[in-house]
Amino acid sequence: MNNPAQATSRSVLRRLYRAILLPAFALALLGVMWAAVLYQVRQERVSAHYEAVLHSQSLARTLAEHTNHLLRQSDHATQLFKLKFEESGGSLRLAEFSKSNGLLDSLLPSKLDLPLALVAADGTLIDSRSGYFAPHLGQQPFFLHHVQNSSDTPLITTPIVEPRTKKWQIQISRRLNQRDGSFAGVIVMMIDPATFVEDYDRLNLDPGGAVMLISRENGIATARVDEQLIISDAIDFTAAQSGGRIGTLDELLLARPFDAVERIYGYAEMPRYLLLAVAGNPLKTEMTGFELRRQRYLVAVSLASLMVLLFVGLLMQQAHRLRRSALMVSEAQEMLRAAAEASMDCVYLLKACRLRSADNAIADFTLVGLNDRGAALLGMTSEQARGKRLQELMPDLHTHGFFDKYKNVLLTGRPLDEEFEVDFLPSGEHYWFHHQIVPINEGVAVTTRDITPRKKSELAIRKSQAELAAVNDVSPLGLLRADAHGQCTYVNRTFEFVTGLMRSEALGENWLRAIHPGDRANLKAALKQMAVTRLPYQDTLRCVHPDGTIVWVMFKIAAMIVDKQIYGYVGTVDDITHVRKSVMALRESEARLRTIADSLPAMVAYIDSEEVFRFHNIAYEREFNRFGTSVLGKTVVETVGEARYSYLSPYIKRALAGETLTFEEEDNSDTTLRTYEVVYIPQIDEDGSTVIGFHVMRQDITAQKREKQRLLRLTQIDTLTGLTNRAGFLQKLSDSMHASAENHHLMAVMYMDIDRFKPVNDTYGHSVGDALLRAFSTRLTHTMRASDTIARLGGDEFTIIMERINRAEDATALAAKIVTAMQAPFDLDGTMVSISASIGLTFYRNEDITPAELLHQADLLLYQAKQNGRNTYRAGPSHTTAGDYAA
Ligand code: GH3
Ligand code: MG
Repeated sequence: MNNPAQATSRSVLRRLYRAILLPAFALALLGVMWAAVLYQVRQERVSAHYEAVLHSQSLARTLAEHTNHLLRQSDHATQLFKLKFEESGGSLRLAEFSKSNGLLDSLLPSKLDLPLALVAADGTLIDSRSGYFAPHLGQQPFFLHHVQNSSDTPLITTPIVEPRTKKWQIQISRRLNQRDGSFAGVIVMMIDPATFVEDYDRLNLDPGGAVMLISRENGIATARVDEQLIISDAIDFTAAQSGGRIGTLDELLLARPFDAVERIYGYAEMPRYLLLAVAGNPLKTEMTGFELRRQRYLVAVSLASLMVLLFVGLLMQQAHRLRRSALMVSEAQEMLRAAAEASMDCVYLLKACRLRSADNAIADFTLVGLNDRGAALLGMTSEQARGKRLQELMPDLHTHGFFDKYKNVLLTGRPLDEEFEVDFLPSGEHYWFHHQIVPINEGVAVTTRDITPRKKSELAIRKSQAELAAVNDVSPLGLLRADAHGQCTYVNRTFEFVTGLMRSEALGENWLRAIHPGDRANLKAALKQMAVTRLPYQDTLRCVHPDGTIVWVMFKIAAMIVDKQIYGYVGTVDDITHVRKSVMALRESEARLRTIADSLPAMVAYIDSEEVFRFHNIAYEREFNRFGTSVLGKTVVETVGEARYSYLSPYIKRALAGETLTFEEEDNSDTTLRTYEVVYIPQIDEDGSTVIGFHVMRQDITAQKREKQRLLRLTQIDTLTGLTNRAGFLQKLSDSMHASAENHHLMAVMYMDIDRFKPVNDTYGHSVGDALLRAFSTRLTHTMRASDTIARLGGDEFTIIMERINRAEDATALAAKIVTAMQAPFDLDGTMVSISASIGLTFYRNEDITPAELLHQADLLLYQAKQNGRNTYRAGPSHTTAGDYAA
């Protein structure tokens, strides 16, 4: 399991490791370098020191040899003096001995001029030269030594001569003997150690170098530093130390420096004289070579360190830069990838595949990179698509010219940006795309965006714009659009048509030219006013066409306001010339109708579907004024009251249901009962079905009604034939049956119908038909008895009542006679018409049937006769035979 904490700590460690690797390496390198150099310096210091000690030692040895030599010579000198003294029997004196080119000169350089003293056997000073000696030396240790010691060996001591200055001398004394060997005295020679150190000029001593002789006896030293002579008993040195690893040379270390200069001392023991010869060169000069080398080493190592540091620094900087640029590159790559993934675009990176021919022509492209969106467009995953060739991925790209576009962009280096339409994608759908092809190294980057929705909506917008333009153009209203300054920016075709002003002429301020000059000033003022009030404005105006035609228009205009700012105006122009004319005409016809209606005696009104009075004429007004009411705009129930309304209501409902109806209305509100004939005529809407109201025609028919009743009573004659009509017949039938039942007389009723009368009408016309009916009734009258009642019920139907017949056969005979009579053609004003007749014959005596039932029996028999082929008669009733009656 790779948990994030682990991963983080690992990455921190990795980063730390990377960060300290170079500095650690540099430090190690420097450490090694410095250690080596310091080791080398130390070695060199030791070796230089050793050299210096060696040098000092050789100097010390030279000093010791020099001193030894002098002391030996001095010793020889005392020996020679002794020899000569004893030869001379004790008479040799110092002047003799040390005279120029004398014995002493042969041994010691005369310039030394060493103090000499000759002491007698009693200790008194006999002779001395070149120095001060006390007159009596008998108590001196050296004297006592020689007195007691008869050996010939000299005594070398280093006595302090002046306790104050601590000036000390090397004293060489020798016993002088008599001839017999007895003690004769002592010869003493004093040598100032300064002589040795003074005489040391020729030694190779550096400036500031010191040479000294130290007495082992009294520890006092005589030293010389440059030209200065120092005598001191404070020069103390610790035990001689081993000179280090190189050899076993001993270095003399001063316990306490006697001056400010540090030196390296070498020494040489002179055991015979109890002296120590010491030489020391200043450390500084001794170590100059070393110091120089050390400095060179240090400079070199410093320079090297500097260079290492510089180099590592540079390396680190480079590494840091490298890391940073690597980081930036990876970040940029990440960002690019994220951007590509998050992009709305499909991103493809294509590498050119070149032929290996001479011209290196591009044969195809390889898809080296793409985002998920891009892969989805190809219908595969990016892993599947990556590394494939275009030819393989989508051959359509080659055939549709995309390959050439990519190639062109790569060859010319000019990016391409365009929109296109495709129908060859795996999804099979129609798409619009926008792509951008940008040249990259040996390839192109293609970003493709699906703009189908935008294209579709653009198309939809264009369509709806076209639609709008078309709608505007087919609009029955002239449309006008103006900007905020009232300058016309658009008019539709209807505007052109209505105003007679072409669009090109109407744009700008010129649209006002369409308006009649007489109305123009008013309109301008109104528009100015409108810009202030912002209220829509409308007016009826005149337009003048170029040919002078005047067109009446309803002009409406309103401001378009957004955020309280007028940004334009929209106006409509409606041609109302025709409307105006028809309104005028309507008004005229209304006036005419009203005049007519008002001149009518009948009451005329119009009631709408809500049962409200909308119109009435003067006669109606007079009627209502009887009740002192004005009815226009009022409902029927309000006008006539509940009682009368309940009577009228069903009729009103029927009229509003579309029925034309006539009814009589009785009004007894006045002193006399009056009858009105009321006609309701529904007003159907233009749709042909909806009833929008009804017209009322109300006429006082009180007088007519009375007259009609009278006439009805009187008129039972058929006007066409002069025969009795249906009313008269029924009256007569009823009367006859009554009489027949009372008197038990047999009576007969014939129901007759002309056969095929309709074709006569159809062939010759109705007047010929009428003439036939008249001729038929005349022939019938002649055929019958005078006492018989002949009636025409209507159409071609006739009836005959025969009262008081003796036998049924009389009636049947008569029926047969009629049938025969009618077979003869009729001459109707030159038109010869042949018809026949069919008859139903029935009888009555006292049966309990109504006139209508009796007539119905006759009718049934007529039907049978017709069924039987016409031109005949049938007698009945069907349930009773003619015979029954005959019997
Ligand atoms: P059918 O043999 O079945 O009776 O045949 P038809 O053609 O006579 O038919 P029908 O009796 O049913 O028709 C009578 C016709 O008489 C119908 C009508 O046109 C006509 N008619 C009715 N009254 C008059 C009238 O007053 N004058 C004229 N000329 N014709 C009438
Ligand atoms: Mg008929």
